[in-house]
Amino acid sequence: MLVLNCGSSSIKADVLDPETGVRFVRERVERIEGDHAAALAALLPTLIDRSPEGALAAVGHRVVHGGDRYSRPVLIDDAVEAGIEALCALAPLHNPANLAGIRAARQLLPDVPHVAVFDTAFHGTLPSRARAYALPKEVAEAHGIRRYGFHGPSHRWVAARAAEHLGDPVDALRIITCHLGNGCSLAAVEYGRSVETSMGMTPLEGLVMGTRSGDVDAGALITLLRAGNLDADGLDHLLQRSSGLAGLSGRGNDMRDIEQGAADGDERCRLALHVFCHRVRKYLGAYAAVMGGVDAIVFTAGIGQNSALVRHRVAQRLEFLGARLDEDRNRLARVDADSPVAEISAEHSRCRVLVVATDEERAIAGQAAALLGLPRADDQPTIPVAISGRHVHLSQAHVEALFGPGHTLTVDKEISQPGQFAAHERVNLVGPRGTIDRVRVIGPVRSRTQVEIARTDEFTLGLDAPVRGSGDLDNTPGIRVEGPAGSVTLTEGVICSRRHIHMTPEDAERFGVEHKDVVEVRLDSDGRDLVFGDVLVRVSPKYRLEMHIDTDEGNAAEVTRNFEAVLHRTDRLASLRRVTT
Ligand code: ADP
Repeated sequence: MLVLNCGSSSIKADVLDPETGVRFVRERVERIEGDHAAALAALLPTLIDRSPEGALAAVGHRVVHGGDRYSRPVLIDDAVEAGIEALCALAPLHNPANLAGIRAARQLLPDVPHVAVFDTAFHGTLPSRARAYALPKEVAEAHGIRRYGFHGPSHRWVAARAAEHLGDPVDALRIITCHLGNGCSLAAVEYGRSVETSMGMTPLEGLVMGTRSGDVDAGALITLLRAGNLDADGLDHLLQRSSGLAGLSGRGNDMRDIEQGAADGDERCRLALHVFCHRVRKYLGAYAAVMGGVDAIVFTAGIGQNSALVRHRVAQRLEFLGARLDEDRNRLARVDADSPVAEISAEHSRCRVLVVATDEERAIAGQAAALLGLPRADDQPTIPVAISGRHVHLSQAHVEALFGPGHTLTVDKEISQPGQFAAHERVNLVGPRGTIDRVRVIGPVRSRTQVEIARTDEFTLGLDAPVRGSGDLDNTPGIRVEGPAGSVTLTEGVICSRRHIHMTPEDAERFGVEHKDVVEVRLDSDGRDLVFGDVLVRVSPKYRLEMHIDTDEGNAAEVTRNFEAVLHRTDRLASLRRVTT
């Protein structure tokens, strides 16, 4: 896969295998002459030449702003191109260059899929209280003024690497990721989701950066405009290009030069370093408060990965969060693609402090590969979800009572679990309040008759069934069941089926669970993501991997055909609650 990151005057092009992470080509073109199309056309033969088998399978494009429209990677077509163009007003420095790269690449490589991966997407989970600026609603809405956040692929990537290192699922951790490069941002990643980040509507808000100011009192900007020497473009240039480390230090934007200057006694460099580190620490404390605690702090990108001095300064006085640096580890920490994580916290530090090598290209390739269904390194195994409508299992005696002596169930169609079938036979359920007609019988016959209904059905029928696993029928209500040849009145056997996953022993091993574990399962649907707790794992060589939920649960999570879920938590807590029945 070719990963393209087109800036206004530069092109970064990497060819890599999203599954193994192996990188075949890394090209950087600075100060491109002419337009992106010409530069890319000149670059492409080399890229293709050095790719395995001399071919590219797909292109992943970094796109900075996805606005409200794109919260996931998308396959690029003309409509998406137009959508990205419409967002240029929100990111005038970035989206036009990204778009020029997309247009050029689609023309040069018309036969492969192109995927857009958005910087803003990871922060699509920001709650509204973190998104909103305190401006009049109408004004904010008319201009798309809200906080979006950036550096998404990097924050997501380093949080995942940190979780791997710590041996916990990212969904069980509160992590603050500090991306400190030319652009700088922090993200509060609470149980896998970004809930706060320091860049806002544009990548200008928040931390001190190479040439960007980060936070400035908006009143100061009004003062500057009123003073009359600056118009909007002048202000833009001031805040984006000549502020930040460069503006404070007067020595350019490179942290190495500023560290050197400070060591040589230059006051402006000292102040630049102080303001930079203070701002990061201030945000760290704020984000720990936002999440009610923090399990790990991660430093990444050019400064975060390389400057022991900055990490030392930032981490001072964070003991109250349980974060204690080991100064030797900090000084000696080195990370790269082969060894991407170094721990720099002291032995018993409650909050772990890590340096993690970011890899935005791999992050983009992985997300694009996921969309295209290609294999990728961080593949999470998924579980097919099936909705069980209300149904009845019958004993042979009840089959004969309902359908006539000597009757046996007849197969209408096979269902997913091996050996089971939906029968042609149907029955009516008659409850104290109401009746439900033509309910499916599921074969083969069982030793005891069992009626499985959803909560909504209980209201219709007028009874109260407990949530139970299959076969666990003691002290459950009964019901009258009618068939064409007779009826039976059950004294017990009506349950609301406990949600469960069928799996083989091999699946159980793959997911790291055991028979009767109770786990959490996440269903990512369009607009109705839902995490189900209390999901029972049932393991048998006779099963096929599938999660079963009832119609109410399926509707609540907006489950559609061919739906796949992921295991969300299988931790010790859940195992302790392993059912004993
Ligand atoms: P970008 O945001 O453009 O991807 P990087 O993540 O590559 O930028 O970060 C670039 C910055 O990292 C440089 O401007 C420099 O300030 C800083 N940097 C790189 N190496 C060191 C180092 N050894 N010590 C301090 N800062 C460094």
